[in-house]
Amino acid sequence: MSNIKNDLALFNELVEVLISEEAENPVAERIVAGKLFNTIDLSLNDGAMIDSSFKKLLREVIVATPKTATNLFFNQLFGGRQSKAVLGDLLAVMLNNSMYTYKVAGPQVGIEQEIIRQSCNLIGYGANSNGTFPTGGSMSNYMGLIMGRDAKDPLCRLNGMSKPLIIYTSEECHYSNAKNASFAGIGKNNIRYIKVDAVGRMLPDFLEAQIKEDIKNGGVPTYVNATAGTTVLGAFDPIDKIADITERYNIWLHVDGAYCGSVIFSEKYKHLVKGVERSNSFSYNAHKMLGTPLTCSIILVNDKKHLHNSFSSDADYLYQTDGDDFNLGKTSFQCGRRNDALKFWTLWKSIGTKGLEQIVDQQFNLANVALEYIRNNSDYTLYSFDDAISVCFNYKNIDPTVLCTALYEYQETVVGFGSFKEDTFVRLVTINANNEKVDILNFFKVLEAFVEKTPSLTRLEAATV
Ligand SMILES: *Cc1c(COP(=O)(O)O)cnc(C)c1O
Repeated sequence: MSNIKNDLALFNELVEVLISEEAENPVAERIVAGKLFNTIDLSLNDGAMIDSSFKKLLREVIVATPKTATNLFFNQLFGGRQSKAVLGDLLAVMLNNSMYTYKVAGPQVGIEQEIIRQSCNLIGYGANSNGTFPTGGSMSNYMGLIMGRDAKDPLCRLNGMSKPLIIYTSEECHYSNAKNASFAGIGKNNIRYIKVDAVGRMLPDFLEAQIKEDIKNGGVPTYVNATAGTTVLGAFDPIDKIADITERYNIWLHVDGAYCGSVIFSEKYKHLVKGVERSNSFSYNAHKMLGTPLTCSIILVNDKKHLHNSFSSDADYLYQTDGDDFNLGKTSFQCGRRNDALKFWTLWKSIGTKGLEQIVDQQFNLANVALEYIRNNSDYTLYSFDDAISVCFNYKNIDPTVLCTALYEYQETVVGFGSFKEDTFVRLVTINANNEKVDILNFFKVLEAFVEKTPSLTRLEAATV
């Protein structure tokens, strides 16, 4: 039966279980996928379940679920937990507004608008800028692409595509670019993947040469995606140099800052996105560097008319009216839309812009701890570079795919691997700003102790070379 007070009491009880589990077993015991349904009773049945069994089962599920907030989780581009953001998200669930109109969302609309306005100010977009909260970074990129497409070929919205549109991104970009090209009707074969330099940044000269080549062949260069924090290395494409080119050829410039666009909050690191004010759109994920719960992605648009032209289903945008600015459904992809703004606002409001800056800077501090450790230890080979929170390395020539899998299977730590050019390596992501120096050093200690007690790892390497 539905009884919110009882269920919230149960929630608190279960959260206590989770928090003590995180302390005692920071890496959850892995259930092999093939055995999942035999290990936990996940079946849905005709009959109701009695409360005590229900509680017991929930506890079991919680204990077995991978723990992403602990100091041994380094696997992906999120991790840790900012408690003030968790508070905001829990409130959003209780309030359960849909963000399309002022009528049903009220002040929540203002909360979303304030985040967008402040973010636009931070990156130097002018008075005509605006934005929205899509479902994630992939969707932010998709919205950027659609606006770029429509800007180049406005009739596309009515007649479908009539020009051979071509889009550009680096070899190291996120895979959503490829999916989005197919969704947008542009086609995966009409993406040009531009070469990167030795540290993973797009090479502007190659971009321009490719654009010229495409124009010569009758193509229509439409959209360039620059990445602020590539998914593997965390590299930053040179936005200023790319903007010189997109301005010259009148091409939409989108900056995908899903991973590291949050450097805009840091005095020390915002130079990594220098020139971002010249882009047409920019997106960042607060659920990555800023540690809000998943998902919290923001796309900002330099001239809001594009947001209206591409996403409003009625007449083209003419004038700013109060109505349009408060009825956010006019510029979003979805109809019903979850409130992803409140959790970011509670965080930002409570710790201030300075607090967000500290969160960002701490991740680079932690990366520097890892870099220094690796550079001073000859058992390690380093593959990543300064000014990145992805720290990539190999240890004692052990196959990184084998090592990462074993570390996870034996509940030691959760870390992933990646590749750049010819090399594959362990990728340690120092994105959990709640970690401290000791946590990073502990990661290496855990890894080394595991290799020490698992001779098969080194033997396996010896057998493969
Ligand atoms: C994570 C990431 C994305 C995708 O964001 P989602 O919210 O996971 O969809 C896009 N681009 C880059 C560079 C990313 O790192």
